[in-house]
Amino acid sequence: IFQLSLPLNFLGSIYREIRQNLLDMEALFNLQTENVPVKDKPGARPLALKGGSIRFENVTFGYHPDRPIFRNLSFTVPAGRKVAIVGPSGSGKSTVFRVLFRFYDPWSGRILIGDQDIQDIQSESLRRSVGVVPQDTPLFHSDIMHNIRYGRLDATDEEVKAAAMKASVHSTIMSLPDGYKTTVGERGLMISGGEKQRLAIARVLLKNPPILFFDEATSALDAQTESEIMRSINNILLDSARTSIFIAHRLRTIVEADLIIVLKDGQVVEQGTHEELLRSGGLYHDMWLQQALDSSPETTSLSQP
Ligand code: ATP
Repeated sequence: IFQLSLPLNFLGSIYREIRQNLLDMEALFNLQTENVPVKDKPGARPLALKGGSIRFENVTFGYHPDRPIFRNLSFTVPAGRKVAIVGPSGSGKSTVFRVLFRFYDPWSGRILIGDQDIQDIQSESLRRSVGVVPQDTPLFHSDIMHNIRYGRLDATDEEVKAAAMKASVHSTIMSLPDGYKTTVGERGLMISGGEKQRLAIARVLLKNPPILFFDEATSALDAQTESEIMRSINNILLDSARTSIFIAHRLRTIVEADLIIVLKDGQVVEQGTHEELLRSGGLYHDMWLQQALDSSPETTSLSQP
């Protein structure tokens, strides 16, 4: 029963938290406003996370009845591991995130977290367990302190700063005219895509979710920014046993992933570690070679993309 004495500021925080989740989701999934997530079943339970492995079992799904995107897609992301999903443009990488978040239900097949079918759990609890670093992070018209604190509304200033340090964005913030009080977002100070993504990493650090999604920006960042972002991400992952899924466009950023899943036309065509996939000489090998050629026309070395 809802208590009337519930303090208003508490309701305010719930409202802000819901708004924040929606903003993240919209930005990550490129959702249109008319796109309503599927409804929970009556009697749906909260997600009980034990371990947190993620498993697609024969998932068939498409946005239009005559055009399946996934045909019996199956793969497993082991609990506590860092898994990358790669593949040509249009192969269905972002669609994996969308069905995993239950913005759509599969036509057939199941998606399991631990041993729970996500169709039987409350979507809210699913989304609460997952932290998202989207390609393009939405910022509020507010100061930076506030923007990072959206990750966890009761975090202290010290906790916000510690998260920013871990995300390698603290010194950049300190160099801004008003430090953490600098206003960003609409009509605020413009900050770069790389800085925005690091603010998103700091937010996720405060949220501290057991499952992490990272959507690598498609637009090329300069090499230094890219490696700083990867360092911040690794800082998050090193000290935790978080299950994480990366959508990667530049293969050099995921060389150290525990497992790389290669998608093509909505199916897993190969999977393994970077070395295994290079050795097997398949699609991953070809994509690696192509990216090596693109980034440096003089070299065709397999070890230096
Ligand atoms: P990229 O690397 O270019 O981001 P991707 O591998 O993430 O591509 P998806 O975005 O998952 O690919 O798209 C897979 C297929 O589904 C594409 O053919 C795309 O056109 C189609 N698609 C994606 N979103 C929708 C949608 N909302 N409605 C209809 N078709 C869609």
